[in-house]
Amino acid sequence: MIPFLDLKNINAQYREELVDAAARVIDSGWYIMGSELKAFETEYSEYCGTKHCIGVANGLDALVLVLRAWKELGKLNDGDEVIVQANTYIASILAITENNLVPVLVEPDPKTYNLNAASVLSAITGKTKAILPVHLYGLISPMHEIMAIANEHNLLVLEDCAQSHGAKIEGKVAGSWGHAAGFSFYPGKNLGALGDAGAITTNDDELAQTVRAIANYGSHKKYENSYQGVNSRLDELQAAFLRVKLNYLNNETHRRREIAIAYANGIKNDSLMLPISSSTTLSDLDKHVFHLFVVRSRNRAAFQEHLNEAGIQTVIHYPIPPHRQQAYNEFSHFSLPLTEDIHSEVISLPISSTMNDEQINKVISACNSFKG
Ligand SMILES: *Cc1c(COP(=O)(O)O)cnc(C)c1O
Repeated sequence: MIPFLDLKNINAQYREELVDAAARVIDSGWYIMGSELKAFETEYSEYCGTKHCIGVANGLDALVLVLRAWKELGKLNDGDEVIVQANTYIASILAITENNLVPVLVEPDPKTYNLNAASVLSAITGKTKAILPVHLYGLISPMHEIMAIANEHNLLVLEDCAQSHGAKIEGKVAGSWGHAAGFSFYPGKNLGALGDAGAITTNDDELAQTVRAIANYGSHKKYENSYQGVNSRLDELQAAFLRVKLNYLNNETHRRREIAIAYANGIKNDSLMLPISSSTTLSDLDKHVFHLFVVRSRNRAAFQEHLNEAGIQTVIHYPIPPHRQQAYNEFSHFSLPLTEDIHSEVISLPISSTMNDEQINKVISACNSFKG
């Protein structure tokens, strides 16, 4: 079976360095908020081109904490509207509702699955205070356009970069465009820890200080609490693992792009809609880090079964849109036909950076032999 994501083999490449990193932490006697975290924060802020990086416990917390900090700073209030694409993973929406803010779910661009200028503009009301562009599947959103709208309407921008480590527009990296960004280092993300981890990036000193405090029991100074904070920390072990893996992130992204191009060139089946055209070259792909290679099929169940029979594992990202989840039955009457079509048709092909050419060709042949 070709696994959808071969984490075991991916991490095995770095085993020796990961074991050394773990030993270094074990032997240090210091496991929370120490030198590994500090070094990772510096290295990752350099990677993203931002002034600050703040390690937190996971990607959801990163998003929650930025919105919470903006509330503490008086920039957001209960009931303010946040524009977000309706087809995102539920975490983006949870971060909004957790803070008593109102998610305004908009249909994505049908080609990119992301927000576009028209979708954002059509959703702005007198209550809009923020935009939360999710760089879904690894493709950075049109950030020039989004920031121009934000500046004109005085809106905050929080990028959800959980799937887009290193994606860039004109050399400027995801996580450095908005007023702040949230990253996830869940093991299956492009930069994955060996457990839960996340981070916030920003150029805003006041925001950085505030999220640091809220994530640490609301405390800037030990035993002095300015906020009713939470405990959301990136531990030393995960920080040490992430420092190892950050060194290989660009190589892994390069390999993901090669696989994506091989799929785009090799898959010739009119019943499947691909995320990039067959004429795409590596130099066109700065914007996309292919966290996922998502294709659409009107006959998805049969397509998934066909691939499964050919020994190819696939995953659906995501089968049910947030507004159709039981958790959000207050949104269940919303009509978002494009989002609903997307959720009923998408399927993600295997995209491990460790895939060999034989495996890639096997996926391509199986796609081509499907009679949609
Ligand atoms: C994974 C993910 C998150 C949440 O990250 P965790 O580390 O799992 O909390 C948020 N948004 C998107 C788009 C994601 O894919």
